[in-house]
Amino acid sequence: MLRKWRRRRLGSSPFPATWLRILRERVPYYRLLYPSSYEAPSKFVDPAGVVHEGDESRLGEAWLRGAIILSWDDVRRDSADFQDGHNVTFHEFAHQLDQQDGTFDGAPLLEKRSSYRSWARVLMKEYRALGDAAERGQETLLDQYGATNPAEFFAVITEAFFERPKALKEKHPELYEELKKFFHQDTLARLEKSRREAK
Ligand SMILES: [Zn+2]
Repeated sequence: MLRKWRRRRLGSSPFPATWLRILRERVPYYRLLYPSSYEAPSKFVDPAGVVHEGDESRLGEAWLRGAIILSWDDVRRDSADFQDGHNVTFHEFAHQLDQQDGTFDGAPLLEKRSSYRSWARVLMKEYRALGDAAERGQETLLDQYGATNPAEFFAVITEAFFERPKALKEKHPELYEELKKFFHQDTLARLEKSRREAK
């Protein structure tokens, strides 16, 4: 899930009618793509153990059994700036991958049994480091929303992997390697190649 307070809203625009028609005709779950951020009842426990309840604005969420809900405003904004490290689409799809094994814990299904050991070691270490930095009030490359729990951590590092591969590889090389193996792609190499070709 991605809460709206994570960033400023930059205004909204109506959902184009033709797109809505296309969605209705071709996408069975189009109703789960909301025009903008939406209100939903929520309950969560913060790192200090305080329970927060009430309505909150959401940009998106991923449900068990495969539904993904996204705010269209935010999907569009993220596509316009694809290097700021924030992307609600990558975030929610990461949750979906995480839940493939039936649990929402930041540990998606890995290809090989032997991969779990280094995945667990690296992700646990980095998750704790992010939590510590957040507590100290230190700035971090990774969004500190990722310190909420391991599932959010996986979603946040996925955003960074696709949107800020260079910085991620420099500052968190082991994390970058784990994600490169998991997603079967080298996002930094791809970015550098596309930059060379653009010249
Ligand atoms: Zn989330």
